[in-house]
Amino acid sequence: MVRHISYSLPLTRRQFDRSKLPKPENYYAQQFPELKNKSVKSAWVNVHCCFHDDSQPSLGINLISGGFHCFACGAKGGDVLAFQRMRYRLSFVRAVDLWEAWYDY
Ligand SMILES: [Zn+2]
Repeated sequence: MVRHISYSLPLTRRQFDRSKLPKPENYYAQQFPELKNKSVKSAWVNVHCCFHDDSQPSLGINLISGGFHCFACGAKGGDVLAFQRMRYRLSFVRAVDLWEAWYDY
């Protein structure tokens, strides 16, 4: 006789939903108060790097894509999620939780 074992699956599964990430422009305005006093002429703008002791603004951040790259210490990433994780040392899941950037399926 064959016994069928039923596994209980979680009721909801979730997947990362990139569209729920904050807009890079708004997010970086919070992270870098110095942006208020800058006239932004392109997507890329330089700010003081938060990943090393920075005397010159050497961290380039992209206000459209969220990408960032420091010319002095080499910190870099492709979006605000990568920035958030690096700055606050968060796991992927913790960082996504923060913005509830999931969708259930
Ligand atoms: Zn740096």
